[in-house]
Amino acid sequence: METKESTTNISTVPRTMRAAQMTAFRGPIEVREVPVAAPRADGAVVRVEASGVCRSDWHFWNQDLAWIGFNLTLPTNTGHEVGGVVEEIGRDVRTVKVGDRVTIPFHESDGTCEQCRAGFQNLCDHVIVGGVQRVGGWAQYITVTAADLNCIRLPEAVDSLSAAALGCRYMTAYRAVVDRGRVQPGQWLAVHGCGGIGLSAVQIASAADAMVVAVDIDDRKLAKAREEGAAATVNARTLTPEQVGQAVKDATGGGAHVSMEALGRGFTFHQSIQSLRKRGRHVQMGITSQEERGQVALPVDLLTLMEWEVVGSLGNPHPKYAELLALVARQKLHPARLVTRQIALGDVSDTLARMTRFDTVGFEVITRFT
Ligand SMILES: [Zn+2]
Ligand SMILES: [Zn+2]
Repeated sequence: METKESTTNISTVPRTMRAAQMTAFRGPIEVREVPVAAPRADGAVVRVEASGVCRSDWHFWNQDLAWIGFNLTLPTNTGHEVGGVVEEIGRDVRTVKVGDRVTIPFHESDGTCEQCRAGFQNLCDHVIVGGVQRVGGWAQYITVTAADLNCIRLPEAVDSLSAAALGCRYMTAYRAVVDRGRVQPGQWLAVHGCGGIGLSAVQIASAADAMVVAVDIDDRKLAKAREEGAAATVNARTLTPEQVGQAVKDATGGGAHVSMEALGRGFTFHQSIQSLRKRGRHVQMGITSQEERGQVALPVDLLTLMEWEVVGSLGNPHPKYAELLALVARQKLHPARLVTRQIALGDVSDTLARMTRFDTVGFEVITRFT
């Protein structure tokens, strides 16, 4: 980190801020006064106006992702779905200005590695994730690197709440539906798991005139999926993966063209695979946890016989934000409609506890920081 001398503007950013901090894994989240990190020469400080509590934060809190290298040093504040206003920039920042309203992808990228230069900043070799490599967005301010790349300016019509909703779950679903799933109008998409990512996929695919069958074990989430455009739903609570697959085949006249796993469990992966019609495409969005450590059996004979494709999908490359934000600005897509609760910094523990019980529907976003 460089010092404040690297900035060109007279900073109005205070030296300390309130942040919701993890002090122990699975322990209560405490609101504390912590320092605001100064920006690097290429960085910026963004005043956070809205900040989501994502299932990946919950995984961090549970230490689920340590096995893939996401090791948190406590205390820290996570949070990687942010909408806010640029308050300070480093001396080498060229295009971002103080006062810009921005969103920040959860995969903050360096812009210089092979993947970034090829346009796949979502796969950056030196990715920075809030809470892991630096403090995150459950705070009044967030300090961003490579600001010209990672601060993505919002159109006038896109507010901070929508920007926060776009930070991880919604943009992940967007890439999964549009780029990795290549879901076409009139095709059937099956969405397995109707948490934040799953509901986002339902909304995005429905807006693109695909037909969606939503699968979950919670009728409230299935009801929300119907509100977001799902043409059919399957409650999988008492069903085996094969039975779920059959229910999807019944609902879709032979199986989904594209099927997505949006939870990160072996059984939902199997449900998804079993839902496909011939030449179908499975898109993996969920990340498993300590139990499975990413190891899920793959029915390779069926892969051959059905000519199925299995693809992964992670985040959304920075250049793809232009089209996504244009669709939000024109109200073709409505990420903020998935925000079911606006909370205060001090409410994060409560949200995480309800996530443990899978008792949240849609997104919960911090919008009160004092
Ligand atoms: Zn996330
Ligand atoms: Zn990179």
